[in-house]
Amino acid sequence: MVVAEEKDELKAKLKEIFGYGSFRGNQEIVIKNILSGRNTFVIMPTGAGKSLCYQLPAMMTEGLAIVISPLIALMKNQVDQLNAYGINARFLNSTLSKGEITKIRKDCISGKIKLLYVAPESLNKEENIEFLQKVNISFVAIDEAHCISEWGHDFRPEYRKIKTMIAQLGTMNVIALTATATPKVQLDIQKNLQMEEADVFISSFNRKNLYYEVRPKKETKKQLIRFLKEHKGKSGIIYCLSRKKVEEIAQLLNVNGFKAAPYHAGLDPDVRMKNQDDFLNEEVDIICATIAFGMGIDKPDVRFVVHYDVPKSLEGYYQETGRSGRDGLEGICLMFYSHNDLNKLEKFNKDKSVQERENARILLQEMEFYAESPVCRRKQLLHYFGEEYEGKNCGMCDNCTNPRERFEGSQFVKIAIEAVQQTNERFGLAHLVNVIRGIEDEYVKSYAHFDLPVYGKGDTEDADFWKSVIRQALIYQYLEKDIENIGVLKISQKGLAFLKKPHEVELARDHDFTTVAEDEESSERTPVNSKSYDEKLFEMLKTLRKKIAKEKDLPPYVIFQDPSLEEMATTYPTSKEEMASVNGVGMGKVNKFGKEFLELIQKYVDDNDIETAAEVVVKSSVNKSKIKIFIIQQIDRKVDLEEIAESKSLTFDELLTEMENICYSGTKLNVDYYIDEVLDESRQEEIYDYFLNSETDSMDDAMAELKGFSEDDVRLMRVKFLSEYAN
Ligand code: ADP
Ligand code: MG
Repeated sequence: MVVAEEKDELKAKLKEIFGYGSFRGNQEIVIKNILSGRNTFVIMPTGAGKSLCYQLPAMMTEGLAIVISPLIALMKNQVDQLNAYGINARFLNSTLSKGEITKIRKDCISGKIKLLYVAPESLNKEENIEFLQKVNISFVAIDEAHCISEWGHDFRPEYRKIKTMIAQLGTMNVIALTATATPKVQLDIQKNLQMEEADVFISSFNRKNLYYEVRPKKETKKQLIRFLKEHKGKSGIIYCLSRKKVEEIAQLLNVNGFKAAPYHAGLDPDVRMKNQDDFLNEEVDIICATIAFGMGIDKPDVRFVVHYDVPKSLEGYYQETGRSGRDGLEGICLMFYSHNDLNKLEKFNKDKSVQERENARILLQEMEFYAESPVCRRKQLLHYFGEEYEGKNCGMCDNCTNPRERFEGSQFVKIAIEAVQQTNERFGLAHLVNVIRGIEDEYVKSYAHFDLPVYGKGDTEDADFWKSVIRQALIYQYLEKDIENIGVLKISQKGLAFLKKPHEVELARDHDFTTVAEDEESSERTPVNSKSYDEKLFEMLKTLRKKIAKEKDLPPYVIFQDPSLEEMATTYPTSKEEMASVNGVGMGKVNKFGKEFLELIQKYVDDNDIETAAEVVVKSSVNKSKIKIFIIQQIDRKVDLEEIAESKSLTFDELLTEMENICYSGTKLNVDYYIDEVLDESRQEEIYDYFLNSETDSMDDAMAELKGFSEDDVRLMRVKFLSEYAN
């Protein structure tokens, strides 16, 4: 390799080519290492500037640098940026035409091109290998190198063939780069690329300005709205597991007055692009996304990242939270956690191979430990990536700002270490816990571990307690993971020293998320738990309803239905907006009937010194599901109901049910165009009069009274009636 290297020449080149005044973090030593012809392994957090580590050396050495990258979309982006700097970079992938490919090959061979981006799939092609054999290659850089390891979170089988492909091109230096690699993954990458002797440069993963918090997934929508109200106008990302959830949350937020847009792979590319641009240009504040969002996004002032669902791995979690606070200012990382989410995630893996399933399970288990652990979150995350956080209290996570109760735990730590020692450092957490607790299962029997002195020494505590102790012993470095054998625990130097001379160790108990019932479902007409509302207020509201009904000569249920009153007696709405957010109400009704109810609630709240839950009332959207929106639109366009039902594969009966639900939650449907076709005026009047004078809108009562009408007709008229009177 011909190298131009003078001390300040590097800085001069940086300025000349990229216009930057100085290097960041490890960039300079990494670049020097590459220029001196060494294999180099770079571990640097997202956004720290890994690309420059190979781009600058590529410009300073003779020949073509090959960059292997997993994502075609990112490739184009990077190449565009390089071209903008006047650097001759190209990419080679399936999106190009034959002509374009021929031209690129020619320019590579003639030495015109300095950087060539390829996906491993393209590199694997015989024709590409053949042509690259004719090219003078300076080095190969492998971006996102964690894709090599099946122990990591983003394994790509093609990546494991890279070494073989490179070998066909001759001997050359290899640069591997990644933002996430646990010690295990790191070793795996180096082994696979046969670069164990490479120089490894690891930057600190500590993001000092990020605040980490885990909350139970309970009344999640309310918690979310409350959180967002506290951060109104700020830029943020909300990650959800499914496309459906993304859509739902985006809509929930819009209905509640936030500017939010969805982003997921199922959207039209145009829409997706627009939503992303709107977020970048601050047309919307919040993007609700599946993890498809964020790769290559570099918005510096994202102020919060919320995980509405539990992520699949700590690697993913770290990457996603890492998108907040890139400018060094505030970055809040909030995760809603439930055990149920882990079970769901585990189910997704059921079609994978045994090995893949097992790997995915281990990643999930780490997630579980992280969420439930009482230890400083920062310390845990850094420990996971093989870095020690020395501080005792980071002051920037929930476990530090709101610590769990501590206890002196040296006796427990001692037992944990002894268990590892006496079983010869060959076992994992679950077995160690069984030995300590004296649980005689098959393993214990087959290894005769019941003979060990430590067997049953901890039988007064439960399994969760011991799991937690062992996890804490790991994070505090009395124990360590065996990198070669996943899951196996060993004793560290610190642990051995402790056995000789024990000292006090402060432990804490895990968070208990098991008692937390998950209440994810909040359908449009959730019945309010009968015990949970304020019965006295409810009675007062009912009395008022009766009075108004009399005055207006309307049946009471037309004004507000019971479930709406129950909800009012739960959330104490005192403004029009709050009242409109009650299920089955809506602004139309508030304007028509709301005034006296609001006055009553206000007085009641004042008299009884009640703190209203108004600020956390979650407005649910009428148009929650696509079908409902569709129906509303079609009826607006006066499309025949049969046709609407057919196009959504609904029976007429199901369509009517949907329409009733739409009416009950406060949206008017004008179906006169249809009713006029199927019922003559006098018959319409008969049904209408019935509902006007009836005490209830029960269908059974109506059918008993209205002889000679079909149920469909009566239901249709009821929709008309509800639309005209109740909304
Ligand atoms: P990574 O691949 O590590 O996630 P990138 O290589 O995409 O990060 O770089 C992130 C951002 O940092 C880019 O916008 C890049 O232009 C910028 N950057 C990189 N190095 C420097 C530097 N020395 N000075 C200023 N900006 C830099
Ligand atoms: Mg990168």
